[in-house]
Amino acid sequence: MAYDDSNIFAKILRGEIPCDKVYEDEYALAFRDINPQTPTHVLVIPKGAYVSFDDFSEQASGEEIVGFVRAAGKVARDLGLVAPGYRALANHGADAHQEVPHFHLHLFGGKDLGRMIK
Ligand code: 5GP
Repeated sequence: MAYDDSNIFAKILRGEIPCDKVYEDEYALAFRDINPQTPTHVLVIPKGAYVSFDDFSEQASGEEIVGFVRAAGKVARDLGLVAPGYRALANHGADAHQEVPHFHLHLFGGKDLGRMIK
């Protein structure tokens, strides 16, 4: 699937739409989800143009992947999620109901999240 740079997260990256930013570096931007599902719900997105985890995992450089993962880990630590625990999740494609076609990692926390797989 070709990357469409009119998607909402591309607009956020370009500063055309505001976001509640929690972290930014050369590899990633993290901001609060507009419709939080948990007390803490942050989205971490790479700066590069990747539709989903599938593209990112296959096409991003090692430097971009390491930079992105390090940024996501730092965001979780800075938000105080590590000790109580949190969930990191990426939706890819139709079955997972991915809505925004720019790869993003959800960080959920701030309450007992229950088991995803029983
Ligand atoms: P997906 O289903 O693609 O994994 O999740 C997309 C997420 O982006 C949803 O949780 C949705 O609430 C969030 N979202 C959609 N539009 C915006 C927006 O304009 N700003 C922010 N901060 N989050 C958004």
